[in-house]
Amino acid sequence: MARYRDAVCRLCRREGGKLFLKGDRCFKPSCAIERRGTNPPGQHGAARRKMLVGYGQQLREKQKVKRMYFILEKQFRNYFDKALRQKGVTGENLLFILERRLDNAVYRAGFATSRRQARQLVNHGHVLVNDKKVNIPSFQVRVGDVITIKEKSQTNAHVDAAWQTAAGRGRPSWLTADSGVGVSVSSLPTRQDIDPNINEQLIVELYSK
Ligand code: SF4
Repeated sequence: MARYRDAVCRLCRREGGKLFLKGDRCFKPSCAIERRGTNPPGQHGAARRKMLVGYGQQLREKQKVKRMYFILEKQFRNYFDKALRQKGVTGENLLFILERRLDNAVYRAGFATSRRQARQLVNHGHVLVNDKKVNIPSFQVRVGDVITIKEKSQTNAHVDAAWQTAAGRGRPSWLTADSGVGVSVSSLPTRQDIDPNINEQLIVELYSK
C-alpha cells in the first residue's frame, strides 16, 4: 500500500500552518512552524509564498485537509465521490466521512496524540470496536459503537499519556467517555465538531471543475 514517507513537518510548512501530525511535539517550541515559520519548505521557500486565488486556493485547501487526515489522493477522491452521492451538502458530507474514520475517532477519543499515532494503534491491532479487533484505519464508526483499547495495551505509556491529556483537552460532543478506558459513539459528528478553519466549499469547487 502506498504511504507517505517524507518528513511530516514539511507538510505543515507547505500548508502554512500546524496540521498536528506529531502529537505532543506540535505543542512544544521544537515544532517546525514555531522554529522556522510558515514559509514553504526548501531553499527558496520564502520567495514561493504568494497570495493565492481561484484554483491555487482550492488546491491548497484540498491538500491541507487531505494532509490533516493523513490520507493519499486516491482515497480522498473516493471519499469525495461518496460524499457527492449522499444527500445533503457535499462538502460537509466529505468532512463527516473523514471524521468517522476509525483512526480519527481513536485520535479524537484521546487514545493517541495524533492521527498518525492513532493509525499505528489501529494497524497494530490494539483497537477494539464492540469488543472485536478492527485493524482497518478507514473503518467508518457508527452511532452506538464502543471503541476501546485491548486490555494488554491499556498500560502502554503512550496510550496512557494521551488518554490523560485528552481528558483535559476535551473530546468532541459525538464521543462520550465510558467508565474505564473507552468511548462510545453517541451521535454522528456535526460541522461544529470539525475544525472551523476548513473551507470545504473550496474542495467541492476544485473537484467539480
Ligand atoms: Fe506540524 Fe506538528 Fe511538525 Fe509542528 S511539530 S510542524 S504542528 S507536524
